[in-house]
Amino acid sequence: MRLLEKTPFDVIIIGSGPAGLTAAIYSTRAKLSTLVIGGLSWGGQLMLTSEVENFPGFPRGILGPDLMANMRAQAESLGAKMLFEEATAVDFSSHPFKINVGDRVFQAKAVIVATGASTKWLGLPSEARLRGRGVSACATCDAPFFREKKVVVVGGGDTALDEALALSKHAREVTIVHRRDQLRASQILQDRVFENKKINCVWNSVVVDILGKDRVEAVKLKDAATGQESTLATDAVFVAIGYSPNTGIFRGKIDLDENGYVVARDLTRTSVDGVFVAGDNQDKRYKQAITAAGAGCRAALDVVEYLQQHH
Ligand code: NDP
Repeated sequence: MRLLEKTPFDVIIIGSGPAGLTAAIYSTRAKLSTLVIGGLSWGGQLMLTSEVENFPGFPRGILGPDLMANMRAQAESLGAKMLFEEATAVDFSSHPFKINVGDRVFQAKAVIVATGASTKWLGLPSEARLRGRGVSACATCDAPFFREKKVVVVGGGDTALDEALALSKHAREVTIVHRRDQLRASQILQDRVFENKKINCVWNSVVVDILGKDRVEAVKLKDAATGQESTLATDAVFVAIGYSPNTGIFRGKIDLDENGYVVARDLTRTSVDGVFVAGDNQDKRYKQAITAAGAGCRAALDVVEYLQQHH
């Protein structure tokens, strides 16, 4: 038996990363009753990072979890209600929209889907242990820490090549380690990579371990064809094997592309009128805290306009 919360919120925001919390700051300031369903591990990907140097307003940088705690406090002080549980199902087939959280059902006149994306990791214990100590998944964030160093990028898609090109502006040497002998990335990025003297590729190789006590010192590689193992010295490992948008509960409810990203039109609108999207679950390209925050702002402003027209 599910318990239906009778009064609909003006807007329910699903997700509590920079997109969701910025949306909440804007919606509460527009006097919309706002519920943020923030998930069990609230705060999004910045909760997994250490120093953030590229979010404007913090000249000495700020720790990712501190930045998210600030955003949360700001949204709460403006009146946003927060629920740190997972949304388990959504019903967008009629108004008001319904969102299940465990055995409770919340109702909303409008919804912002801001569930983000998760980095795909290799799944090695050493990778988890050395995250923030040379293991990263964001060159834009961390490349400046590896000026004149040797770095490894794992992967063969657009993300990996983008990361390698960004790193080549700082690092002395960038080695792309790919599990096959052909890149998956677009030709234009391949051309740029092959022209770049700082970047080289190690083919048919799988990273089977990351070595180093307190920081990354080397990777252990295994040749995919021969099984032979080798060690490659490096100061950092950038894992760039893709992202998974966190959109499982929206499958069949709003349009998603073949990789599970939300299809957006006019920047924030989904295939269902009144359901908006913001952040990395629709952004394959920029994936930055600041772009997600900007997207959250846009989505909230569009919700305000939508509610003025429809309610
Ligand atoms: P992709 O799925 O395209 O590529 C992932 C890469 O990682 C593949 O080369 C894959 O190898 C490799 N890989 C996957 N799992 C493992 C693993 N466990 N161990 C080792 N290697 C692994 O993801 P991307 O994030 O690169 O791109 C996703 C989408 O976003 C694409 O559509 C892309 O075009 C787009 N994008 C566009 C950008 C742009 O326009 N500038 C920038 C970034 C992304 P294999 O090839 O063998 O499968």
